[in-house]
Amino acid sequence: MTVMQTCAKNDETARSSKERENIIEVADLRFVYSQKTPFEKAAVNGVSFGIKKGEYIAIIGHTGSGKSTLIQMLNGLIRPTSGTVKLNGEDIWGKKSDIRSVRFRVGLCFQYPEYQLFEETVYADIAYGPKNKGLSGDELDSAVREAAEFAGLTEQHLKQSPFELSGGEKRRAAIAGVIAMKPEVLILDEPTAGLDPRGRETILEGIREYRRVTGSTIVLVTHSMEDAAANADRLLVMNGGKVEYFDVPAAVFSHADRLGEIGLGLPQTSRVIM
Ligand code: ADP
Repeated sequence: MTVMQTCAKNDETARSSKERENIIEVADLRFVYSQKTPFEKAAVNGVSFGIKKGEYIAIIGHTGSGKSTLIQMLNGLIRPTSGTVKLNGEDIWGKKSDIRSVRFRVGLCFQYPEYQLFEETVYADIAYGPKNKGLSGDELDSAVREAAEFAGLTEQHLKQSPFELSGGEKRRAAIAGVIAMKPEVLILDEPTAGLDPRGRETILEGIREYRRVTGSTIVLVTHSMEDAAANADRLLVMNGGKVEYFDVPAAVFSHADRLGEIGLGLPQTSRVIM
């Protein structure tokens, strides 16, 4: 083998090990609503990035910047107009992939998920997803109890009707329902919206704990610069359907003027910018 061939081979090895590191990789992703109508709207318009296994990413951006559309493509809920989403190196819409299993592996918790609680007990609600995934018996029971614990819910809560819970507890029950499916990637859209500071912290703490114990990857969509800065390894800033920045919090917050222009502020605690 010549030196050039060896270098090329090393490059290839380096590239493939780099690829392995990314649990999610998107390339040139676009999503157009109401295509070929007067209401056509490119909500995500040419986005490429990689998320490393075990990383905690916060997605921030003004309303309408494409955050919700992007995360729905990450778990295969909507199919990109063009571009690819790879999960562990495999195109989720490729021939070999099974989109149903992708949705279990990449768990998506919507905004205000408590509106989707409908079972008679909190236990049954949390069990709904893992049951669908095929879990039963002791395996199902331990998935439900573990998830409840991450969400800060007690044995007592599990026996109650979801409608007897407080707003914050309902939210946590709904999040537990996604966690119970043990997703490798947990995506949450504004999980703390509308909650008081204590309710917010209970949820953020539970998410950190889920990541610490399971090594899962976290994607948090948030309006709170404080929550993004305090929790995430990297921030993905969306603006007009494109990625404006994707970097560590200090680097992103160094662009204060540009962030202001695209409708975002700096976190109020200067500590997090240092
Ligand atoms: P964000 O989550 O950042 O608020 P969205 O992904 O919800 O952004 O929306 C991005 C753009 O796509 C917005 O301009 C929004 O109006 C548009 N959009 C979102 N959902 C739909 C839809 N179902 N039909 C048409 N346009 C939509």
